[in-house]
Amino acid sequence: MTLTKELKQKQQPKQGMLENVMQQFENAAELINLNPNIKKILSVTNNELIIHFPVRMDNGEVEVFKGYRVQHNNALGPYKGGLRYHPTIDVDAVKALAMWMTWKTSLAGLPYGGAKGGIQIDPKKYSNAELERITRRFTYALGDNIGPEHDIPAPDVNTNAQTMAWIADTYMSTKAPSERSRNQHVVTGKPIGSGGLEGRDRATGFGVFLTIKFWAEQKSVKLKDKTFIVQGFGNVGYWAAHFLEKEGAKFVGVQDAFGTIVNKEGIEVEKLLAYTKENQGSIVGFSNSENIAKEDFFGLDCDICIPAALGNQITEEKAHQIKAFLIAEGANGPTTVEAEKILLEKGVAIIPDILCNSGGVIGSYFEWLQNRNGELWELNEIIERLNKKMKEVFIKVLNVAESKKIDLRSAAYVLAIERLERTYIQRGVFP
Ligand code: GLU
Repeated sequence: MTLTKELKQKQQPKQGMLENVMQQFENAAELINLNPNIKKILSVTNNELIIHFPVRMDNGEVEVFKGYRVQHNNALGPYKGGLRYHPTIDVDAVKALAMWMTWKTSLAGLPYGGAKGGIQIDPKKYSNAELERITRRFTYALGDNIGPEHDIPAPDVNTNAQTMAWIADTYMSTKAPSERSRNQHVVTGKPIGSGGLEGRDRATGFGVFLTIKFWAEQKSVKLKDKTFIVQGFGNVGYWAAHFLEKEGAKFVGVQDAFGTIVNKEGIEVEKLLAYTKENQGSIVGFSNSENIAKEDFFGLDCDICIPAALGNQITEEKAHQIKAFLIAEGANGPTTVEAEKILLEKGVAIIPDILCNSGGVIGSYFEWLQNRNGELWELNEIIERLNKKMKEVFIKVLNVAESKKIDLRSAAYVLAIERLERTYIQRGVFP
C-alpha cells in the first residue's frame, strides 16, 4: 500500500509532515509525468524500524525508550540522514523526514539515499550521563541496521557532535578489533578529534546563508541592511545568523523553545550565543530586547525569514501574516503546502529545505570521504568545495524554475526525482 493510501485510510488523518512531503512529491510527479511504477516505489519507505530499549536512570530506576530509524530509499547509495531527539518524534514524522533526505541527497548529486531516525524524548529532562547511556543503548539496539556503507546517521534537532561520538564509539566497540577503525564513518558530524570534519558544525547554517546570498545576487538585492528573523537558535539558526550579520544584514527577531525576542536596532549574534550558554540554552531575557507573543513571530516586519526549527511552522494563518520577501528553509518541512500557495501568490520567494539546508549533508559527505580515504581535509578547502557544490545545485534549480516557469521547490523536486527515475530506468526492477 502506498503511503498516500495508508494515510487516506486513517480515520482522522492528522495534518502532519508526512501529508506535506507526500503532497509535494505528488505535485512534482505530476509536473514531470513520473513513470507510475517508479512513483509507486518512491511513495513508500523501504524499512521502518521501531525499537523499545531499556536504560537505567541516575536514580537507579529503569526507563523504556522508543527509538526509530526509517530508511526511505537507497537507489543512489547508502541511506543517509540525521537522528532527532524530540518528544514529537513518531513514525510518521520520521517517514516524512526520511523522504526529504532522499530528495535532498538526490538533488545535491550525492551517492546517498535517504533515512532519518530519532528517539521520542525531551532531552532537557535527562542528565548528560543518562543521555549518553540512552544513545549508546539505542546504537546497540540498532546493531547492523546502520553501518558505514549501509546507513549513516548524523546530527539533527537536539543531537550534536557529542551524540555522534557516543554512537561511533559504541558501534565500533561491537566490531572485531581489526575492524573497528574501518567503521569510523558509521556516523558523520563527529567531533574533530574523532574523525569529524572541520567546519561540519557550521555547514548547514553556512549553506543556508549561501543560498540566500546566491538568491540575492540573482535578483540584484543587496544583503547589507536587510532585516532578518530566525526561528530556532540552535546550530542551524545560529550559523545562518552569524554569516548574514557578517554580510551587513540586521538580525531583528528570534524565537526558540523558550520565547520570542525582538530588537529593531539589531540583535548581536555572538552576544546572544554567549547569553544562551549562560542561560540554559534560552534566549529569553537577552539585553536590549523585547519579549513578544509566540504567535506574533512570523508577522514581524523583516525582509528575510529563516525557519530553522521544526516542521509545519508556517501554516496558512502564518502565511497571511508574513511580511518577508524571502523565506529560507533552514528546517526540514517548515512550510505547509497550503501556506506555500498563499506565499507564492503574495510574491514571497521560498528557498526550499532540500536545497536551502543541504549544506549539512554535503558536509557529511565530505566527512565520510575523509574517513573512508584516511584523509584530513583543511577548512579552506572544505568551505571552497561546499560553496562550489551549493552554487552548482542552486543554479541548476534556478534554471529549471525559470525555464519551466515554476517555483523553486517544484524545480528542486523535479531535479531530485528525475535523477532517481533515471537510475530506476537504467536498473529495472529485480527479478
Ligand atoms: N540532519 C541534517 C539534515 O536534515 C543532516 C543529515 C546528514 O548529514 O546526514 O539534512
